[in-house]
Amino acid sequence: MPILGFGSGDGVSVLGGLGEHKCPRCGENANFSVKAAYRYYHFCYLLSFLAKRDFFVQCDNCLLAKPVEQSAILAHFPSDRIPFIRKKGWLLVLISAAILISHAVIRQEINQRRLAALAENPRANDIYLANLARVEGSGFDPGSIDVARMGGSAWGAMKVLKIQGDRLVLATTLSAYSEKKRLERSLGLTAKFDLDNPIVLTQREIAELLSSGVIYDIQRRAPPRARGASGGAGAGRRPAPGRPAGV
Ligand SMILES: [Zn+2]
Repeated sequence: MPILGFGSGDGVSVLGGLGEHKCPRCGENANFSVKAAYRYYHFCYLLSFLAKRDFFVQCDNCLLAKPVEQSAILAHFPSDRIPFIRKKGWLLVLISAAILISHAVIRQEINQRRLAALAENPRANDIYLANLARVEGSGFDPGSIDVARMGGSAWGAMKVLKIQGDRLVLATTLSAYSEKKRLERSLGLTAKFDLDNPIVLTQREIAELLSSGVIYDIQRRAPPRARGASGGAGAGRRPAPGRPAGV
């Protein structure tokens, strides 16, 4: 029987004893038992269900078996004693799937709330991860060859430069990627923002981009600890005199 994949199996369960009777075959005064022979199908032994169940009475001495009607048996022996995993294994899989799905839904819900809260109270240097092909003015025109080559999506980032009332001034990344993962890897390393061509979006527009999934994540880094006037400079490095620290 294969360990992985579909398979079937047979089993016998003992529902109970009927006491001693004279057996017509072996002639002994032998114990008789009520049993169920069953067949089940399974996937990986877990997702299993019962295909067949036949009841019979058997002499414990010579194993003579005589079929009996289910209705006659279950009135006296309400449980067929077939293991739950064989009868309703599919139910376990269903329950596990339901638990996994509800966890995923809850996680998603928590994440959506986190994003909504960040979008409602934007801060300078917040980074919005988005499909720039669907953000007007981002420089990634959905009709362009570059975006078409990326499969229609241009995953890039927008950094909040400043906030003017309910309007955000944002710089978009100069590069975009066909996959979110590649964008996320680039953010800590090579991502460069186009500071010369900022775009302006209202908070309402940001909220709409968020709910439509165009913006799929918001990163907010803890503000660097202010250390005199040089906050944000690299560890152990002093900015050269006369040059502004970072951008
Ligand atoms: Zn017998």
